[in-house]
Amino acid sequence: MSAQDLTKLLNSPTPEEIALVEKAYAFAEQAHKDHKRLSGEPYFIHLFETAKTLAEMGMSGTTVSAGLLHDCIEDVGVTPETVEKEFGKEILFLVQGVTKLGTVKYHDSTIHRESMRRLFVAMSQDIRVLIIKLADRLHNMKTLSFVPAHKQKRIAEETLEIYTPLAYRLGMRKLSREFEDLAFVYTMPEEYKKIKEILGKKGKENIERLQKFYKSVKKAVATEGIVCRTDYRVKSLYSLYKKIQRRKGDIASIYDIIAMRIIVKDNADCYRVLGIIHGIWRPLPGRIKDYIAFPKPNGYSSLHTTVFTGDGSIVEIQIKTEDMYADSEFGITSHIAYKGGLSKKSLNTNFAWVKKLLPQKTHNDATSKDVPDWVKQFINYKSNNDDLIDDLKSDFLRERIFVFTPKGDVIDLPVDSSTIDFAFSVHSDIGFSMSGAKVNGKISALDTKLKNGDIVEIITKPKGKPTAKWIDLCKTTIAQRHIRAFLNIRKK
Ligand code: MN
Repeated sequence: MSAQDLTKLLNSPTPEEIALVEKAYAFAEQAHKDHKRLSGEPYFIHLFETAKTLAEMGMSGTTVSAGLLHDCIEDVGVTPETVEKEFGKEILFLVQGVTKLGTVKYHDSTIHRESMRRLFVAMSQDIRVLIIKLADRLHNMKTLSFVPAHKQKRIAEETLEIYTPLAYRLGMRKLSREFEDLAFVYTMPEEYKKIKEILGKKGKENIERLQKFYKSVKKAVATEGIVCRTDYRVKSLYSLYKKIQRRKGDIASIYDIIAMRIIVKDNADCYRVLGIIHGIWRPLPGRIKDYIAFPKPNGYSSLHTTVFTGDGSIVEIQIKTEDMYADSEFGITSHIAYKGGLSKKSLNTNFAWVKKLLPQKTHNDATSKDVPDWVKQFINYKSNNDDLIDDLKSDFLRERIFVFTPKGDVIDLPVDSSTIDFAFSVHSDIGFSMSGAKVNGKISALDTKLKNGDIVEIITKPKGKPTAKWIDLCKTTIAQRHIRAFLNIRKK
């Protein structure tokens, strides 16, 4: 373990960046010298692992340094002034952001809600604070066995309930899979054991057979002069558990327990590789998906196919470029520039809302008009309003769909949202004057449930006015609150 283990992971770092991480490393090691974790290990290991996760995600020297320093104010009494003097305002802001998120008291639901609120406020101010918190949580989950037993389940539940969907929504699929597997064993030990048994048997055979298959695929691709690397991901035990439940126990029909990835240089090579594979192995009908020509509404791009390997197994293959791969595994973190936190590439539609949460020139831009309503509500939230936290939590973390305005702007809504939800998400004035809606060009009822990718046009009339019935027709709290407020005013 050395500072170099971190700096070598940085993405084309400047000499200043390397020096910064080295300085933070030495500072944190010294500050936490006499500090131990529950496991008895030096506390510094936790800081190193958090920083390493951040570096592996491609975060900048600034964020990695903040990862090393994230517990020094709270746990060993380093003053904010010292952090600012040694490391500057930006790092102090990040460290304080993480510190303010605080320790969550798992037994108290009010404090739990308060932590949720802090999480969202932090995220709205600077998304990097949340990313550090996620990296911190990952190491805490990896070392959960040292935590007193009565706390383990609550911590694991919170990870599944809050941090996992949050990571997933930020496109950090690799992290969300890790969270799921680390938490599953504590939240449902019986189920975990069962799934592990099933997978253990099936998984071992699978991996051995697949390794042979991978070799043949690589060879076939290389013969055609295409450079590629391969990788595979094993479905998390938790998502496998959920899928087996959905399929009522039919594990034989689940082909993506292990998915092979072939990563190539560009789009053209993706299609060439697909052609080569289909020329040799027979694809399963109906499972060829071209998410390059038709990306998923959340921005996911890749070619998918499922083939018979010839030795009795069936395997899913995903073909993508390095960029597509980074997007699908690391999400938002693959978009954050290593300098200054601005967007490296154009953020895809999935993260349009997050772009507004990236660091601005000042850190209190969160009330500007670009910020989504739900963020403003959080910022203006008064601590006695617990409902709002629950509502926003469920709106935000529930499964989402992405629908479009006629101009092609993306509106991000919870599953089962109606055209009324859409109208109020675009603008409250549009909601208040709504008289009807067209979905994909067709006049549709107000309670039409929207689907991913729908194009929605709201028809407005000066006299169009919400009625009490509308409240039942919408799913989002924002729409419901606007309508209730409107009806109350009218009553008066
Ligand atoms: Mn920590």
